[in-house]
Order: sequence, then C-alpha cells, then structure tokens
Amino acid sequence: MDIMKNKDIYCLIGDPVSKSLSPVIHNNYFKLLGKNSIYFTFNIKDKELDIILKSFKILDIKGFNVTIPHKIRILDYLDEMSEEAEILRAVNTVKNQKGRLIGYNTDGIGFIKSLELEEIQIKDKNILILGAGGAAYAISISLAKEGVSKMTIANRTISKAISLSERITRLFPEIDVQYDGLKLENTNREKVDLVINCTAVGMYPNIDESPIEMEGFSKDLIVYDIVYKPRKTKLLQLAESKGHHTINGISMLINQALCSQEIWNGKKDCNFVQNYTKIRRILEEHVE
Ligand code: NAP
Repeated sequence: MDIMKNKDIYCLIGDPVSKSLSPVIHNNYFKLLGKNSIYFTFNIKDKELDIILKSFKILDIKGFNVTIPHKIRILDYLDEMSEEAEILRAVNTVKNQKGRLIGYNTDGIGFIKSLELEEIQIKDKNILILGAGGAAYAISISLAKEGVSKMTIANRTISKAISLSERITRLFPEIDVQYDGLKLENTNREKVDLVINCTAVGMYPNIDESPIEMEGFSKDLIVYDIVYKPRKTKLLQLAESKGHHTINGISMLINQALCSQEIWNGKKDCNFVQNYTKIRRILEEHVE
C-alpha cells in the first residue's frame, strides 16, 4: 500500500469548507496530469490559524487555498505577497517556498481567463458590476487593468459602492467609474455591455432571488453571474428569457483554481483550454 507515498500535499483552509468544490477541481486536475499530488480541505477556526500555518511549514504542504473567513487575516502570516494581493489586501492562494509563505489572489485573473475562454473582448467596454465585496473588488481591479472604459459599481449598501468606486478611481484615474444602488436609478442600462453579478443574491438556497430586474438593457448585453450554485441562477434565467448571452460562475471557479495550480506548479502544466474543458465536464455533474 504505497498509494500515499511521497505525495505532494495541497489543501483549502476556511470555515466552513465541507461543501467546497475545490477538492473536485484540484484532485481531478492532478489525475488528468498524472501527478502524485493530493488536495484536502481543512475546517480551521480563527484561533487555529497560527498553529496550522506552522504545521504546514513542518509538514511541507506545497501550497494551499484560503477562503472565508481567513482571506484577510492570512496576510499577517505571509512572508511575501504578489502585487495583486497587496492591492486587494486579500489572499486566496499561498505557495510554500521552503518555509516562506507567499500570498496571491487569483479571483480577478481567474475571472479574466474565463472571459478569454468565452472569447469576450472587454477593452473599451462599459461594465456594470453588482456588488462591492471581495469578489467585486478583485474583478473590478482586473477589468480596469484590461482597459475597460467605464465601470458602474451598484450595491445594496451605497456607502460600500462609493468606497469601491473611489478606490478604483484612485488606482485607475483614466477610467470613468460611477456608483449606484441595485435599483440602477442612475445607470443608463442601454449603454451597458456586460453585467457581472458579484453579490451573493440568487445563491443556493435563495434561488428565486435576482439582484436586479433585466429590463431596459440592449440586446447585445452579456450577463455573467459569478454565483455557481445553482448553475442557472434567477438572474441568468431572466437574462436568457431576454435573449442575452449568459455565463455562470463555474467558469471563474475553475479558472481561479487553474491559476492557483499555475502558481504552485508552473505555467507549462496549465494547458488552460484543454484542462478547463475536461474539468468543467466533471464539475457540472457536481452542481445542479
Ligand atoms: P462578500 O465580500 O461578502 O460580498 C457580498 C456582496 O453581496 C456585497 O456586495 C453584499 O452587499 C452583497 N449582498 C449579500 N446579500 C445581499 C442581499 N440580500 N441583497 C443585496 N446584496 C447582497 O462576498 P464575495 O467574496 O464578494 O462573494 C460574493 C459572491 O460571489 C458569493 O456568492 C460567492 O460565492 C461568489 N464567488 C464566486 C466565485 C467563483 O469563482 N465563481 C469566486 C468568489 C466569490 P452589501 O455590501 O450591501 O452587504
């Protein structure tokens, strides 16, 4: 019985993690590439973070993902951070380089990769982002880097929409950044090219809720919901009924995981298109 011999170990830490799809993605990735590696999930409470990170160094855990509630607190334990993680002040991927912990954030780049795979151009486009939390921040920074011309941050709590739009303006003064509430009273819907739902609205079990109504948008609008459970959220159903092109959150989920793999194992392993397609097929069996 040497099935566990010399395996490289990776994992996810968070609380809760029992429903996470990350092990399905990463372990299937290892299988596809014939790697002698394994990915676990560990439910870690706040007060256990310090001891668990010391243990990871001793056990030579090669890399790990970080989810709620540790994405920000992990910063205190890192030796180094990528520029992206530094800007976002949040980390979802850590590489253990001989005991030095290096933090990254792959949410934004994973999102951009998913657009590339769908062959969607975003340069000079007008984007409406719903939400102003961690995912909205990561995605809006990545979109700004890709050269969108206009962004509107619409959020239930308007003060957070203002704060996020101000942060983006400070970093990218050339972009026209506006803010709004979820009623979109100050947004010219017809001019929007892409709507991205970065709120938790519509996520299981609240599957009958949509963050906005889908009236007044142009026919060419693309609607991207980063929520992946259910696969077809209420927002995507409404968008489909209006004839809009829709994308669900599974795409981003897989791509941010492949970006973590690229950080841990190097670029050459990550044949994005091929591995994405195979993992997507496997994952769709796990999400209704
Ligand atoms: P977060 O930082 O907690 O932000 C949550 C956002 O949702 C805030 O803008 C919040 O608005 C809004 N919201 C929550 N409940 C709402 C409600 N009932 N009505 C209106 N707005 C509401 O969370 P996050 O990390 O940004 O994640 C947001 C969503 O994205 C989650 O569903 C998460 O699963 C999903 N996600 C998907 C991926 C992927 O790979 N596909 C990656 C990351 C996140 P307020 O500011 O008003 O509270």
